Amino acid sequence: MTLFSSVELAPRDPILGLNEAFGADTRTDKVNLGVGVYYDEHGHVPLLRAVREAERARLEAQLPRGYLPIDGIALYDSAVQKLLFGETSPLLADRRVVTAQALGGTGALKVGADFLKRLNPSVPVAISNPSWENHRALFEGAGFQVVEYPYYDAATHGVDVEAMLGGLATLPTGAIVVLHACCHNPTGVDLGSDDWKRVISTVKERGLVPFLDIAYQGFGDGIAADAEAVRLFAETDIAFFVASSFSKSFSLYGERVGALSIVTASHDEAVRVQSQLKRVIRTNYSNPPTHGAAVVSAVLNHDDLRATWEAELGHMRERIRTMRSGLTERLAKVGDFGFIERQRGMFSYSGLSAGQVERLRVEFGIYAVSTGRICVAALNQGNIDRVAEAIARVV
Ligand code: PMP
Repeated sequence: MTLFSSVELAPRDPILGLNEAFGADTRTDKVNLGVGVYYDEHGHVPLLRAVREAERARLEAQLPRGYLPIDGIALYDSAVQKLLFGETSPLLADRRVVTAQALGGTGALKVGADFLKRLNPSVPVAISNPSWENHRALFEGAGFQVVEYPYYDAATHGVDVEAMLGGLATLPTGAIVVLHACCHNPTGVDLGSDDWKRVISTVKERGLVPFLDIAYQGFGDGIAADAEAVRLFAETDIAFFVASSFSKSFSLYGERVGALSIVTASHDEAVRVQSQLKRVIRTNYSNPPTHGAAVVSAVLNHDDLRATWEAELGHMRERIRTMRSGLTERLAKVGDFGFIERQRGMFSYSGLSAGQVERLRVEFGIYAVSTGRICVAALNQGNIDRVAEAIARVV
């Protein structure tokens, strides 16, 4: 008997497991569509020019590396707020939003979950069916019971809005609802403006607590357009949470750059919420890391760098959209795949079955998630023909 003899082997993360299998595959024309990362036309994770320039300046300045404040770099936090709520948001003028730099979107969700657990421990957390696989584990890990609300409709390749609203209407008052603000992971299908307004009505009627997750701002229709859900909620008097991430939009995955924003009813409330949020952070990891947020802050707060970044983000968005329409076109001979073009963000629920995904891997060396989720951002002019032909063969 040792201390760890009763420790069971945890199940492998399905996506990381897929990456390992891909790495071990010796075929030279293999393609990995299982990842959740944007690749450029050459199949590389880009290092953005705006980031390189900000990093160069930072290196030259040779700054000391003291601790950051518990809630991070103030200029970073305010830049995040403007990006999410808009420069002229009355919420910001009234100082009703608390923002803390966090360790990626995941860290923001976790800090928010821990804060909510102290506030209201017995409410359930509702996530979409399906959702990003970490949502359930993360909120369960924070001690919540996690339930699902209907979302994806395989028959229409869209959102079943009626079912979603019906599901939300059955939640108890105070329940936390995790909503993908744009570029839904894993399906790629988002709510339209009118749908969001109906969701907001239901949230208000039922007294639910919205927790918006925005990990792909700028990858759908643009920076402001992708923040529409955040801004619609901001027009109401509902208190809500926003977990945001620069992992994708700045291609800074490993630097862990994100933020948690909490919208409160007044500045006085914001001050109190901020003080408690800092306690949650302090007992988790004390304070966030410097480099990534300093780079993002430098870019967002500097006109030239900001313009460079917006152009680069626009390029990533356009490239994904070109790949979407390219795939739809190439698959037209075997069926109507117009939904791939209509979906938004890095992912597409392709409609492929687990069996078809298996055939793609075994026969063609093309790796996708067994749910049929493919990463459209891993396609490029060099592999799209092969991928389309392989899909055409298995459907
Ligand atoms: N939310 C969603 C929906 C995501 O897809 C991701 C990244 N895969 C995240 C949050 C977290 O992103 P990160 O922690 O890497 O910033």
